[in-house]
Amino acid sequence: MQCYQHHEKHAVAVCRHCGKATCPDCCNDTGAGIACSSDCARELQENHQLQQRLKQSLGVGTNPPMPASVPTYFFFGLILLTTGIYLSLTRPHIDYLTIAVSSVFFVMSGVTYKRYRDACLAC
Ligand SMILES: [Zn+2]
Ligand SMILES: [Zn+2]
Repeated sequence: MQCYQHHEKHAVAVCRHCGKATCPDCCNDTGAGIACSSDCARELQENHQLQQRLKQSLGVGTNPPMPASVPTYFFFGLILLTTGIYLSLTRPHIDYLTIAVSSVFFVMSGVTYKRYRDACLAC
């Protein structure tokens, strides 16, 4: 891969803004990623600041994203719980098994979420 400006030079990085390959001479490390030009560097920094402000306003900070298994478990738990309640209402006996299985999913969701929270506190 060659630099998009200097075709004789090997690219060492890719601009995070426009995706062009850049050589060490063109590389501009903005702190928010590698940029190929001052225009891209400015855009990157503006985007970066915007994201930081957005994260701060959401209270996310620099935490890693929540594992996808948390909402997945919760969703399955919700479906099973709804099914369990429905079966309990439509049948003469309460469907303990389905409700019990749904609570297992809720617990798994909670445990995964707690682990994620603990990991965040450590970083
Ligand atoms: Zn660029
Ligand atoms: Zn270059």
